[in-house]
Amino acid sequence: MANKTKINVPQKAKFIIDTLMQAGYEAYVVGGCVRDSILGRIPDDWDITTSASPEQVKALFSRTVDTGLQHGTVTVLVDKEGFEVTTYRIDGEYEDSRHPKEVVFTSHLEEDLKRRDLTINAMAYNDTDGLVDIFGGMQDIEKKIVRCVGVAKDRFQEDALRILRAIRFSAQLGYEIEADTLEAIKELAPTLSKISAERIQVELVKLITSPHPEYLKIAYECGVTKVFFPEFDACMGIEQNNAHHCYSVGEHTLQGMCHIAPDKVYRLTMLMHDLGKPRAKTTDEAGIDHFHQHEDYSEGIAKEVLRRLKFDNDTIYKVCKLVKYHDYGKGVTPDAKIVRRAVNKIGEDIFPLLFEVRKADILAQSETYREEKLHLLALWEEVYAEIIAKKECVSLKQLAVTGADLIQAGILPGKEMGRILNGLLEMVLEDPGLNTKEKLLAEVEKYK
Ligand code: ATP
Ligand code: MG
Repeated sequence: MANKTKINVPQKAKFIIDTLMQAGYEAYVVGGCVRDSILGRIPDDWDITTSASPEQVKALFSRTVDTGLQHGTVTVLVDKEGFEVTTYRIDGEYEDSRHPKEVVFTSHLEEDLKRRDLTINAMAYNDTDGLVDIFGGMQDIEKKIVRCVGVAKDRFQEDALRILRAIRFSAQLGYEIEADTLEAIKELAPTLSKISAERIQVELVKLITSPHPEYLKIAYECGVTKVFFPEFDACMGIEQNNAHHCYSVGEHTLQGMCHIAPDKVYRLTMLMHDLGKPRAKTTDEAGIDHFHQHEDYSEGIAKEVLRRLKFDNDTIYKVCKLVKYHDYGKGVTPDAKIVRRAVNKIGEDIFPLLFEVRKADILAQSETYREEKLHLLALWEEVYAEIIAKKECVSLKQLAVTGADLIQAGILPGKEMGRILNGLLEMVLEDPGLNTKEKLLAEVEKYK
């Protein structure tokens, strides 16, 4: 089976492999690109592994970049496209579940494949030898299984990031994690604390933007989220005994992610929108649970978590705002005034994103009031669409007068001017018909 596998290696990668082989070295495409090709997915990059040393690689190609010489990696440029060419290597002893103490080059492909994390990531290919699959990667693909190369416990001890990578690949592919690998994840989950926030962030985003964001539950069950995201663990046990809900806060969160597009900001929003519920929960005399103002708590916790995981400011801004306003206008029958005010308050950039967030939230709740909730949401969307179509003013930017107009009308720049502009905006939000220069300047005269 394995030898019949044919992979369509792009011309430029093939050129690099051919050049290396003609010079007497071994060379293969390896890792993620082999896995993705077999799965019928389009690889984002084609990595090449070779018996040639970095110096030997550099001698063969006219344009190269020293990307990571200490790890044996040279980037070879073909036309303008770069390909990472890495010398077969053995990662020496690992110091601290993070960095190999030393990297040793080897002339054996098998040694290089052995250092890789998962069987599905440890296959190599070239047209001459076909697929080189020493650890049963192909079989695991057929069985839809994520399994470590070698002894799982040892592999996670070498590099704890692999714990999160294993769960992430299982979510991306919808594969089950093999029993020994899963056992080792549970046992070594605490060692993830040695991994940098940046690397955890990358894996977390890949996991939750995958086709199975709900596999985050596996991370929870194995004690993995506890290490870098205990705020999520706190939600898993919180029941929601009221008519709106049928899941615990944690389960509702997982469902919420499944009901929104696999976009980083959307998925993070659903992941974080109810983090404040454990803190906000009260139970009344009738035994009904309430979560007053949980959005505000959630926003605060989301900011803390996102900062801790070193997310960029733009992502933090968007997610926090969506979290804060995810329940805005809930239960309110909208009219144009209400919606214009909402857009003004929440911001033109964020407001339209809330429709998807609200929809996902509703779909992850009980069916009791679902029709009514979705109907009301559709009304909000309609009214908003009309405001956009009519280009009605919802911000200072769209006001028919500017600061310069006011200066001309004899108003001095400063606090007073700001107060007047905001007063005018208030009037226009109430009555868009007032948004002409003439009418607004007439209003300004009254202020004077
Ligand atoms: P993707 O690019 O979709 O995130 P990938 O498997 O290609 O997945 P990369 O980080 O691009 O991941 O790594 C390329 C290859 O390097 C992997 O397929 C694997 O063989 C090896 N590898 C990456 N990270 C590790 C690790 N932490 N431990 C062992 N091998 C690894
Ligand atoms: Mg890759």
